[in-house]
Amino acid sequence: MDIILPGAHNLESCDTGFTCLVVDDVLAIDAGGLSTNLSFTAQQNLKAILLTHHHYDHIKDLPAIAMNFYVSGNTVSVYGTREVYNELTSHLFDGKLYPNFMERPPEKPTVRFIEVEPYRSFKIDDYEVLPVPVKHGVPAVGYQITSPDGQAIFYTGDTGPSLEECWQHVAPRLLIVEVTMPNELEEVAVEAGHLTPALLKQEMLVFQKHNGYLPRIVTVHMNPEMQEEIETQLQEVAEALGHPVTPGYEGMRLKL
Ligand SMILES: [Zn+2]
Ligand SMILES: [Zn+2]
Repeated sequence: MDIILPGAHNLESCDTGFTCLVVDDVLAIDAGGLSTNLSFTAQQNLKAILLTHHHYDHIKDLPAIAMNFYVSGNTVSVYGTREVYNELTSHLFDGKLYPNFMERPPEKPTVRFIEVEPYRSFKIDDYEVLPVPVKHGVPAVGYQITSPDGQAIFYTGDTGPSLEECWQHVAPRLLIVEVTMPNELEEVAVEAGHLTPALLKQEMLVFQKHNGYLPRIVTVHMNPEMQEEIETQLQEVAEALGHPVTPGYEGMRLKL
């Protein structure tokens, strides 16, 4: 599997993009930075977009992607929970903000929404996809993607601590996990449903207890204004775990 991170942060600027990833050029997870950071060709290659939750930084580029597909006469499948569907149809694809690409063109709507259910795996081409609930301020799932050759990645999306239940359902070789804030903001992080480096360490120890190993760990959704501090603290976590923890960045490529 080839994984690209078009965006790896929680704030957008000319240097940073909202967190999203693309697997083997065809499968995207989250859409905050998809049209901003992908060429038209790369966008047209996408067959499916999986959404973890409905927060703006994870859905922002959906209307732009949809317009690009609409103009070229192509369609794209968007996957998410019932809650995500409700928010998209209330606020983004409501026919007021922009054309409703879930209904236009009538004969073949550009966006085909497919509802997912926690713990119920499904196939997209030869990939097996498993949505697993995580702990965030709104209903949210992470996705485990398993390729035809049996390699698995798990992307948490936005999550706070207490992932014990989640870890019992996944066994990835590569974990792409959010770490939004530095340790001194732990209270804010827990309140909002995010992780700090220290909280990640606790979660990884629980992961290890359940699964007997540690996956390759790449962090995303970092606050770029606090990045230096977060990276120093992630280094301390890596030393404590005796296992590398790598901060993600825009354009990062990962191979499995
Ligand atoms: Zn969020
Ligand atoms: Zn977010």
